[in-house]
Amino acid sequence: MKKCVQCENGSYAKNIVTNYKYLTPMGVVIIEGKSHFLKCEKCEHLVITGETYQKWNLLILKSLTEKSGALNAKDLQFILSVLPYQQKEIAEAMGKNKSTLTYYKNGKNPIDPLFDYAIRDVIRDFLVGGNETLTRLQATFKFEGETTIKKVKAN
Ligand SMILES: [Zn+2]
Repeated sequence: MKKCVQCENGSYAKNIVTNYKYLTPMGVVIIEGKSHFLKCEKCEHLVITGETYQKWNLLILKSLTEKSGALNAKDLQFILSVLPYQQKEIAEAMGKNKSTLTYYKNGKNPIDPLFDYAIRDVIRDFLVGGNETLTRLQATFKFEGETTIKKVKAN
């Protein structure tokens, strides 16, 4: 087992922590149940793998899609830090400027309810490995000309 990177003396052993307190932009989120870590037997330095963080992030994202009430600036900071899309990309898909998105993140402007609705759909797609909503929004707002509906098919 590799030597501890903190004290350079002890070695790591497998360790289980219950109800870990995970610090996020929204504050502490308790990861209920058992989480697995490596812990230095000398200085107690904890090593949490990127895989574990990613798992937690996905669980938190899912909770945010189910959250009652509006998403706030801190929620959005977390969402944007986990989703694998550029902020410019998300802003454009939602028909917003990147600066509007920055105002949302800073809490200078409340988040537009339709933006809230759409970003939850983008998250839901992401959680099942898709990006349909983002693609559909991009296709809708990319067209800058003006069109008029002249005819529709009855069947
Ligand atoms: Zn150590």
